[in-house]
Amino acid sequence: MAEFHIAVVAGDGIGPEVTEQAIAVLNKIGDLFHHTFHFNKVLAGGCAIDEVGKCLPAETLEQCKKADSVLLGAVGGPKWDTVVGVQRPEKALLGLREGLGLYANLRPAIIHKALSDACPLKPEITGDGIDILIVRELTGGIYFGEKGYREGKYGQEAFDIEAYSEMEIRRIAKNAFDVAMQRNKKVTSVDKANVLESSRFWRKIVTEVAQQYPEVELNHMYVDNAAMQLVRNPKQFDVIVTSNIFGDILSDEASMITGSIGLLPSASLGQTGAGMYEPIHGSAPDIAGKDIANPIAAILSTAMMLKYSFKLDKEADAIEKAVTSVLESGYRTTDIMSEGMNVVGTKQMGKLICDAIQ
Ligand code: NAD
Repeated sequence: MAEFHIAVVAGDGIGPEVTEQAIAVLNKIGDLFHHTFHFNKVLAGGCAIDEVGKCLPAETLEQCKKADSVLLGAVGGPKWDTVVGVQRPEKALLGLREGLGLYANLRPAIIHKALSDACPLKPEITGDGIDILIVRELTGGIYFGEKGYREGKYGQEAFDIEAYSEMEIRRIAKNAFDVAMQRNKKVTSVDKANVLESSRFWRKIVTEVAQQYPEVELNHMYVDNAAMQLVRNPKQFDVIVTSNIFGDILSDEASMITGSIGLLPSASLGQTGAGMYEPIHGSAPDIAGKDIANPIAAILSTAMMLKYSFKLDKEADAIEKAVTSVLESGYRTTDIMSEGMNVVGTKQMGKLICDAIQ
């Protein structure tokens, strides 16, 4: 029996619709496994601009810092597209990541057997499903390195510098090995060590960290090969750990092989164990308010929260199994609908998953 305080940033568009279902699922887990989840709803994104004139009010950040974890829906939408600079709704995400010190982004790419027809890969490649977790470094590397213009050999040139410190590599590697211990105990570290000095350093430090995890198998892979292997033989991967830029590209590639944006959760973690959990999709303004959004990505985000922040593996498994069983029973929201299946709305899908939790 435990108590957890969760800050809920429902946000805009379909954000509130999908987080409502995620909260219902957590409440069901609370009832069944005797935990208490306290939800503190806070404002961020477009709705916060409307209400208090700021995309990330100081009070919101304060409440999120105090919480054991943050559940986020999505922010943004056409209504705020003309807002300029620091007050764009999406800036709230950056402010939250920075304010909460979240440097590790975890994005699973999972293909459920029941949905294998949505996957663009051949069935003999996907087999009985795929389950990869990409751990991307989020606050360092070339996106945050020195950048600018200078006079070069051929006149003016622009540059961006990729730099990683030992501390940055060590902490993200530790995250990857920790989550691998909760999964199939295999880590693939992706770099470009045949060309880049920063990658050679990355490889050295990751190899050192691996020594603290004798149960976890580590292999190294060049990023060009990794991009190819993800479509050639994705089943070989369990956890992939990589830099900011490589992770940005590979996580999009991996999510595309699963076929639907409405199914994929994500987690951003920092040093404290608290994290921010959110679906990878946006606020989907085209379908907002129609009760047709797929709540599964938001619901699976709560499973990640239980597993990675609260160490409640059994409870997380119960959510994942309930999602699988509802999909196997033939229920679909419109985004994943196929012939012969039963179409259900956001609320109904949430209810079916709650009812299936054991
Ligand atoms: P989007 O992910 O919102 O939508 C892309 C397409 O996928 C749309 O057709 C949408 O209907 C569909 N879709 C998305 N989620 C779905 C779900 N759960 N169920 C069924 N269909 C779903 O991306 P976009 O259209 O590029 O962005 C819309 C707004 O969201 C923009 O303002 C963007 O800046 C913002 N955004 C926010 C986040 C975030 O909060 N993390 C992420 C991406 C985009």
